[in-house]
Amino acid sequence: MNSYDVIIIGAGAAGLFAAVIALQKGKSVLVLEHSEKPGKKILISGGGRCNFTNLYASPENYISQNPHFCKSALARYTQHDFIELVEKHKIAYHEKKLGQLFCDGSSKQIVDMLMKESNGAELKINCKVNSVEKENSFVVKTSLGKFESGSVIIASGGLSIPKMGATAFGYKIAKQFGINIVETKPALVPLLLGKDDLKTFKELSGISTDAIISTGKISFRENILFTHKGLSGPAILQISSYISNSDRINIDLLPENNLDEIKNSKEKQELKTYLKKYFSERFIQVLAENYINSKPLYQYNEKEVNKINSTLKNLMLNIPGNEGYEKAEVTAGGVDTDELSSKTMMSKKVEGLFFIGEVTDVTGWLGGYNFQWAWSSAHAAASSI
Ligand SMILES: Cc1cc2nc3c(=O)[nH]c(=O)nc-3n(C[C@H](O)[C@H](O)[C@H](O)COP(=O)(O)OP(=O)(O)OC[C@H]3O[C@@H](n4cnc5c(N)ncnc54)[C@H](O)[C@@H]3O)c2cc1C
Repeated sequence: MNSYDVIIIGAGAAGLFAAVIALQKGKSVLVLEHSEKPGKKILISGGGRCNFTNLYASPENYISQNPHFCKSALARYTQHDFIELVEKHKIAYHEKKLGQLFCDGSSKQIVDMLMKESNGAELKINCKVNSVEKENSFVVKTSLGKFESGSVIIASGGLSIPKMGATAFGYKIAKQFGINIVETKPALVPLLLGKDDLKTFKELSGISTDAIISTGKISFRENILFTHKGLSGPAILQISSYISNSDRINIDLLPENNLDEIKNSKEKQELKTYLKKYFSERFIQVLAENYINSKPLYQYNEKEVNKINSTLKNLMLNIPGNEGYEKAEVTAGGVDTDELSSKTMMSKKVEGLFFIGEVTDVTGWLGGYNFQWAWSSAHAAASSI
C-alpha cells in the first residue's frame, strides 16, 4: 500500500491549491479526483474568465453559522497573496466591477497555473473513493487501489451543478466520523416567482434593470434580470443566499431616485413617457398594466405621487422557491465550522481529517469570494500538515 504525507480528495479549486501548498512544504501528496479532469468548475467559472478573487474580500462577505470562523484563514492567505501568484504566472487580469478580478484570457490559465504549481503531486483522475477508514493512520480504498496517510483533506465541494461532478461525498465522510452538518441549500441561485407574479413579469424575460433588493437588514444594489421562471441577475443571486423558500423580498426599482419632482408638475407629458428616463418601454408597459395608472403629469396630486413612489420603491414579491442545485453557483451550509479548527481546518474530533472549500459551512457572496475561500482554507489546512 502506497503511503503519502497527505491525501487530498477532490481536485477542484481548494484541492489543487492545497496540493500546491503541501508540496511547497516538502510533503508527498496524492490527489484523488472522481471525474475525468481537474478544476472543472474553475473552467466554467466567471463566464469562462474565472473571477478568481475580489480586491475587497473580507469576512463580512461570507455567510456561516459562525461568522468569525473564516477570519483567520482569510487573514493568513489574502486576495493579495493570490494576485501575487497570478502575476508571477504572467496571467493578465482586470477588475470588472466592485473589486471582481477576472482573467483577460480564459479560466484555463488558472487551472494551468494550479497544475504547474502542483506538479510533483500524484494526481489520480477517474478514481472512485470507496471508503476512508481511520486506524492508526487513514486508509483510503479506491477503484485504483488502497492508499495510506496520516492526513486526509476533504476538498470535494458542495452539491451545486451535479452534472459537473458535484457529490455529497464530503458530507457523508463528515457524518461517518460523527461530525455535524449544517443543513445545506442552494445559494447564488435564480429565484422562482409565484404564479400570479410570473404572469405579470414573464413577458419581461431577458430584461434587466438596476435595483436594490432587500430582505430584513440585508440589501444588495446591482442589476436584476427577469427570466421565464422568475428573477436572476447579480442582485438576485446575492440575496438568494440569505432567504428561505416562501420568504418575501423587497425591490426598489428607483435606487437613488423618486418621483417627487412631478408633484407640482405643469407638464402635459404622460407618466408613461416620463418614466422612459428610468425604464425600458416594455418595462413601463408592464408597470402601467399592473401597478400604475398613467396620465398627464399635471393631473397627479401629491397623494397619488406618493403612492407610485411607494409602489416603485417597495415592490414586495413572494418567493416560493429557487431553481435548485442544478442552477446554483454554490451550496450554503455544510460541515459545521464549530467542528473545525479555524486555524487549520482540521476536525476537532478526528486528528488528521481536514475539510476545506465549499464543503464547509462558509459561503461567499458572488464576485470572486468563493474562490478566495477555497484558496485561503486550502492554505490554512495544507500549511499545518
Ligand atoms: C457556473 C459557476 C460559476 C462560478 N463562478 C465563480 C467565480 O467566477 N468566482 C468564484 O469565486 N466562484 C465561482 N463559482 C463558485 C466556485 O466554483 C466554487 O465555490 C469553488 O469551485 C469551490 O471549490 P471547491 O474546491 O471547494 O469545490 P469544487 O471546485 O467543486 O471541487 C470539488 C472537486 O471534488 C470532486 N469530487 C466530488 N466528489 C468527489 C468524490 N466522491 N471523489 C473524488 N472527487 C470528488 C469534484 O469532481 C471536483 O473536482 C462558480 C460556480 C459555478 C457553478
